[in-house]
Amino acid sequence: RKLGVALVGLGKYSTGQLAPALQQTQHCQLAGIVTGSLAKAAQWKQQYSLPDNNIYDYKTFDRMIDNPDIDIVYVVLPNALHAEYVVRAAQAGKHVICEKPMATSVADAQRMIAAMQKAGKKFSIGYRLHFEPHHREMMRLGQQQAFGPVQHLWADNGFKFNNDTPWRVNKGLSGGGPLMDMGIYCLQGCLYTKGQLPVSVTASFIPKTDPVLFKEVEAGVNWQLQFADGSVADCRTSYAENMSSRLRAEASKGWAELAPSFGYGGIEGRTSQGTMNIQNVNQQAAQMDDFALCVRNNQPTRVPGEMGLRDVQLLEAIYRAAETGQKISTKDVVAVFDKV
Ligand code: NAD
Repeated sequence: RKLGVALVGLGKYSTGQLAPALQQTQHCQLAGIVTGSLAKAAQWKQQYSLPDNNIYDYKTFDRMIDNPDIDIVYVVLPNALHAEYVVRAAQAGKHVICEKPMATSVADAQRMIAAMQKAGKKFSIGYRLHFEPHHREMMRLGQQQAFGPVQHLWADNGFKFNNDTPWRVNKGLSGGGPLMDMGIYCLQGCLYTKGQLPVSVTASFIPKTDPVLFKEVEAGVNWQLQFADGSVADCRTSYAENMSSRLRAEASKGWAELAPSFGYGGIEGRTSQGTMNIQNVNQQAAQMDDFALCVRNNQPTRVPGEMGLRDVQLLEAIYRAAETGQKISTKDVVAVFDKV
């Protein structure tokens, strides 16, 4: 049987991406929902033929412990709520996928990992691009040094935020602005293309063009990762500007680039040798099927909670660098989880 997935939080990402992707998955399917909205419950029940028993709200959530239809809980809530619902899903004995960024503090991320370990269940972060073939090619080219060791990386990802999801600029719910939301793709892309973790970071905030909208969070950040071999990654993220998303790596014997790079589809790749002839796939379906197979075959996931924790620590280092104007060492972070 296909493993049953329950989506927690039926906002834009669940509605627009994850539920449609779960119609295409081979190894898992949409089996349940958790929502605070009676109207959404009724609509999803009808659209996806969900039985009443598999429809929960945030109070009845814990009753999933008695529901064998639900194997995997997928937490798709505002960032600051991830920790509570991952811990409760662990206590209900479920495997868990948690959206990025994993948490809004290192302490929360550690608490989530501990709860999942105690439950003895699989735990992954919604890092969809690890399952996207253009990004897998960047990993291969960079990590295998196809053009020599990567010397310089660039990554840009941002959009003009129109306050359609106000929690994103509410620091208590988001943990931070575009760095937490969009910059994390630049960070991830540079790490897995370089195949290493940085030893230090420097950063600066962009000016707040709209001080009311960006009262609690940054409007944008430019930052640089420095690697042990002297190579660097220059990254930019913003809620104040529609950026064409890009991930580029240069080495002594050639270069590789994805542009656009971080969207749900339409990714295009080139190298110094020509166009990457790679098809786009349904990223979320590939990601969820991979996790379902990890559960079924008791294999480790490529994108575990420890990777999410590492990234929360690196994001905190970037914020600290921007706030202090200092170069911040990330050597302690690197020790936590050294796989890219
Ligand atoms: P959204 O605002 O559209 O959805 C959030 C949902 O949470 C809403 O249905 C809302 O009703 C519900 N919710 C429950 N309690 C809430 C509370 N106290 N305050 C506010 N909302 C509450 O947001 P989204 O864009 O779907 O993002 C949800 C999560 O998914 C975030 O962590 C985000 O970073 C992540 N995300 C990931 C990707 C990706 O490509 N992997 C893309 C988009 C969003």
